[in-house]
Amino acid sequence: MIDAHIHLEQYDWEAIDHMLKELPEKGIEALLAVSMNLESCIRTEKLAAKYPGIVRPAYGFHPEQPLPKADELKALLEWMEYSAGDFAAVGEIGLPYYSRTEAFERGEDFDTEPYIDLLDTMLGLASRLAKPVVLHAVYEDALIVCDLLEKHEIQRAHFHWFKGPEEAILRMIANGYYISFTPDILYEAEIQELAMRYPPELVMAETDGPWPFEGPFAGHSTHPSMIRDVAATWGALHGYSPSKAEEILTANTVKFFTL
Ligand SMILES: [Zn+2]
Repeated sequence: MIDAHIHLEQYDWEAIDHMLKELPEKGIEALLAVSMNLESCIRTEKLAAKYPGIVRPAYGFHPEQPLPKADELKALLEWMEYSAGDFAAVGEIGLPYYSRTEAFERGEDFDTEPYIDLLDTMLGLASRLAKPVVLHAVYEDALIVCDLLEKHEIQRAHFHWFKGPEEAILRMIANGYYISFTPDILYEAEIQELAMRYPPELVMAETDGPWPFEGPFAGHSTHPSMIRDVAATWGALHGYSPSKAEEILTANTVKFFTL
C-alpha cells in the first residue's frame, strides 16, 4: 500500500531509516511525504533523494502556523518552482481551522484573509506546474477551498483527514475530489459514516504520522503500516475483503498522484 499523507521529516532520523527498511515486509511500497515550510521541504527533498521511488515528496506551507514573512514566502515559491527536483504534489496547504478556533476560544481575534491569499498563491503555483494539491481544509473551511479550487480549475484535489458539513461533502463528490482516512476510522463513528457514503473510487489511506492515534493504537508510535488496518476497516464498511480494499485504495493513490 501507499501512505497518502505522512510528515516523514518530523520523525527522528534514525527512526526513519529503521522505518523505511522494514516497509516492504510490512506491505508498504511508498509514502507521500508532505512538508510544512521551506526548511521542512528541504528535509523532505533529502529523504526523497535518499529513498527514490519510496519517498514521494510534496512541498508547501502548512496553514496551522504563523504566516511566512514576505521574503520567506518568496524563497519557498522560488525554490518550489525552480530548485526543487521533481515532486509529486503541492502540499500540505490549506486553511488554519484549528488555530482560528483556538484563538477564538482564548477571546483573541484571528484574521483568516491572509491565509486565503496564501492558499490562492499556492493553488496558482500548483495549477501552473500541473501538480495535484494536498489540502488541510476541514469543516466550513472546505467550502472556501472549493471556491478557490474551482477558480483555479484544479481537478486533482486531496482533502486529507477530511471532516465537514453536508454541503461540502456533496460539492467535493460532485467535483471528483479525493479524501483519505486515517487510523481513527477504527474508532470514530463520524468518520465511519463518512466512509460509507464517500465514493470508493475517490478514497485513499493515510497516517498523518507522526500524529498519534487512540483506540487500538494508543501508546504506539504512528507507523505507515497502520494504513493496512485503515484499509481493512474501510473495506468492511463496503463489503470488501482486506486484500480487495488494499488493492482499491492503492490503485486510487497511484492514479491520483500519478505515481
Ligand atoms: Zn498533515
